Amino acid sequence: MLNDTLHNPKTVTILGSTGSVGCNTLDLIGNNPEAYKVIALTANRNVTKLAEQAIRFNAEWAVIADETCYGDLKAALSGKNIKVAAGQQALDEAAQLPAEWVMASIVGAAGLRPTLSAIRRGGIVALANKECLVCAGDLMMQEVLDHKATLLPVDSEHNAIFQVFDFDKPDSVESITLTASGGPFINSSLEEMKKATPQQAVAHPNWDMGAKISVDSATMMNKGLEFIEAYHLFPVKQDQIDIIIHPQSVIHSMVTYRDGSVLAQLGSPDMRIPISYSLGWPKRVETPAKKLDLTEFKRLDFMKPDMEKFPALRLAREALHLGGTAPTILNAANEVAVFAFLEGRIGFLDIVATVEETLTQIETSPLTCLRMVHAIDDEARVVAQNVIDRF
Ligand code: NDP
Repeated sequence: MLNDTLHNPKTVTILGSTGSVGCNTLDLIGNNPEAYKVIALTANRNVTKLAEQAIRFNAEWAVIADETCYGDLKAALSGKNIKVAAGQQALDEAAQLPAEWVMASIVGAAGLRPTLSAIRRGGIVALANKECLVCAGDLMMQEVLDHKATLLPVDSEHNAIFQVFDFDKPDSVESITLTASGGPFINSSLEEMKKATPQQAVAHPNWDMGAKISVDSATMMNKGLEFIEAYHLFPVKQDQIDIIIHPQSVIHSMVTYRDGSVLAQLGSPDMRIPISYSLGWPKRVETPAKKLDLTEFKRLDFMKPDMEKFPALRLAREALHLGGTAPTILNAANEVAVFAFLEGRIGFLDIVATVEETLTQIETSPLTCLRMVHAIDDEARVVAQNVIDRF
């Protein structure tokens, strides 16, 4: 397995180490500590967890995005041989430190700059942060090409497709199908969804994830974002990407070939499986994840998504079809709306309504440079906030 790396540990950096994906990544590293050398760990504000992780994994650097947390982090790590830094610039620099493998697991468009910094080093970037690709897809993929970086999809659906897609013969692919659990409200009425609380929305039936992606799963905006993500990651056209509800989350996605063969990747709903795939790539490494036992399932269900209950799917498709700045606007408005919902300022159905209203209020244009991504992202956040203030 990893024995050949024992005397040559793989150097790794985790952007967003204190989050759900970050902790799962460190869990895998902790299972085989001599195989890895942690270069940098980063967080936004969670000083306690970041310091704990940095000490346990003997990181060279601990970097906190929020500069006001610098003093606390410095104090928490005093006497340890760990370098401390804070702020956006420090985050970008952490992403550029010489690590063979960088996990991009910051949540939201805030992850774009550090992820790009890691890409520009030309190494391996394991991409969990789907919002980066949604808000800057073409530009980001161009950077991947320009810098000869290797982008490994960590999102379970895209990781599944990555495992079964024949990249040598893309023309042999008829379509790709992203599976979706349907989230906690798959069997709820619109009336019930209207009254949904943040606690209900984050209670995902199969996956244990951060708050933002859990709400995205409940609105199914997550699948919309993944639709856009898939378009950028794989050589397929928009009309070759399907979405199917599969409540048991056993099949993580599939590729249909022109001869009628369908190749799928299956596994327990445990993010350590796709993370380990990217961590060990091109080898496979052992994980503590429960092995799939298909006999435990009496049945596997599949159904078409209800587009009336989950308009986020339509909005994401439309945004990708419109192109240019539309996906950037969609993503920024969604982030603002999810945050407002989690704070109890708007209702559950207002999340997607905010995104739709923001998209109608801002005229879309071609997206020509990364500076424009940030400008449009800022503008969409202001418009979305105004929409929310009116609710
Ligand atoms: P979490 O909310 O659990 O963690 C987010 C991480 O990003 C934390 O380390 C957080 O630090 C950090 N962070 C948040 N805001 C900022 C900021 N402004 N600047 C710098 N760092 C920041 O998210 P998840 O781990 O659930 O998700 C991470 C990404 O992976 C998302 O894009 C999500 O869509 C994607 N993903 C997640 C999956 C999952 O199972 N969770 C599955 C597939 C994809 P702090 O702790 O200090 O707030």
